[in-house]
Amino acid sequence: MRRLSAAGLSLASCFAAWTASAATLAITHVNVVDATGTPPQADVTVVVKDGRIVELGKSDAVHVPADAKTVDGSGKYLIPGLWDMHVHEVFGDWLPRDEKVVPPLFVANGITGVRDMGGDLEVLKVWRAEIAAGRLLGPRMIIAGPMLDGPVPRFPSSAPVSNAADGRKVVDDLKAQGVDFIKIQSLIPRDGYFAAADESKKLGIVFVGHVPDAVRASEASNAGQKSIEHFTGIFEGCTAIEDQLIKGPKGLGLNVKNYDPVRAKALIALMAKNQTWQVPTLVWERGQWLVDDIDLSHDPLIKYAPRSWKEHTWPMFVSDIKKDMDTDPLPVRKKFVQMELDMTLAMFRAGVPFMAGTDTAAGVHIFPGFSLHQELVLFQQAGLTPMQALQTATLNPAKFMGRTEDMGTVEKGKLADLVLLDANPLENIANTQKIRGVVLAGRYFDRPALDRMLRGVEKAAAAEPVPAAKQEGAP
Ligand SMILES: [Zn+2]
Repeated sequence: MRRLSAAGLSLASCFAAWTASAATLAITHVNVVDATGTPPQADVTVVVKDGRIVELGKSDAVHVPADAKTVDGSGKYLIPGLWDMHVHEVFGDWLPRDEKVVPPLFVANGITGVRDMGGDLEVLKVWRAEIAAGRLLGPRMIIAGPMLDGPVPRFPSSAPVSNAADGRKVVDDLKAQGVDFIKIQSLIPRDGYFAAADESKKLGIVFVGHVPDAVRASEASNAGQKSIEHFTGIFEGCTAIEDQLIKGPKGLGLNVKNYDPVRAKALIALMAKNQTWQVPTLVWERGQWLVDDIDLSHDPLIKYAPRSWKEHTWPMFVSDIKKDMDTDPLPVRKKFVQMELDMTLAMFRAGVPFMAGTDTAAGVHIFPGFSLHQELVLFQQAGLTPMQALQTATLNPAKFMGRTEDMGTVEKGKLADLVLLDANPLENIANTQKIRGVVLAGRYFDRPALDRMLRGVEKAAAAEPVPAAKQEGAP
């Protein structure tokens, strides 16, 4: 931390100033999948104290302190805590504040950190402080606060930008309010976008988000945007009609019809050269483009959804999506979903860095925690190895945040955020869902504790008051 700025303090509070468990924890005889890329290490003992890994080695060579709480890891697999790098936790009346639902769902699923990509800054700051102080159970967080959108933003938790002056001012204001980074949305005008990009660079704050409708993906990458979400602008940039699509109207059908492999190759090479991170939110993309084709009426996770999501936010989303987005025939949309998987693999092979993100809970049936595991499965389906998929939620977020000294792998000296699994995730990444225990800042939650957490969420979701009647489809 160069200066003791408000932003520096808040980011630090996400990592260092946590109230860690003072008790010593030892996980013995476990297979460690450290996420560095090496094969599992068998029969390892990991000792945790004051929230960090203090010892790690072959079980017969590691001394376990007499007062340590011991967890037998025989036959189990230990991975780093997972990060969901695209979430919205508190989002105006779309996702009203609900600390009894969202934060524990993350922890119960082994998600020990999140990048909040747009939300109610003051509430999120309070949550973060409460979590760090050990008064609220939840993941570590880095926070964008309000998203920079057009003069009439589409979503709540947004800052309207009409021109270059607005772009600079909003970035200045957010920096002063202590956000960790700047989030860009689709409707911001070109001049506002480039001014915000320039101001962010001047202030030394990262900016990420959508490629705005009026900006080319290549321009965003060259402007220094650090991550691109949902492949926004990417497929437009793979066509010969990009200029026309920038002016609008756009559409998935046009992207599919005009896809040009030569242009795709050039854009992929640019993303690799600039190391522009991609967070494709494949699970959200699939849900959006195939919303009329996926039957979620029997989704067992529905019990964790508060009534406001089920009765207000999700129906509103579905009607919006059907009206404005899913206007192409289903086979075209199915083809596009596959093209997104193919793009993931092509970019990955070209050296473009990737992270796992879900857009939870601002998606239809995209559940905090659970959906991150689905995202990992989709990365595997795209053609990444299980290790590479695992790294999108562990090592890669640590690299992205410049925190590899603290997190991202299971190694001595790192923060003790860990997930204990019943099966080997390198055989099938779906095995990250077989969670036996979670360590968060050195505190161990066994399976019964995680189940109690989930029952608490279920109870809180059911107890939520019925939301006031809202206008349909009018975000
Ligand atoms: Zn989002």
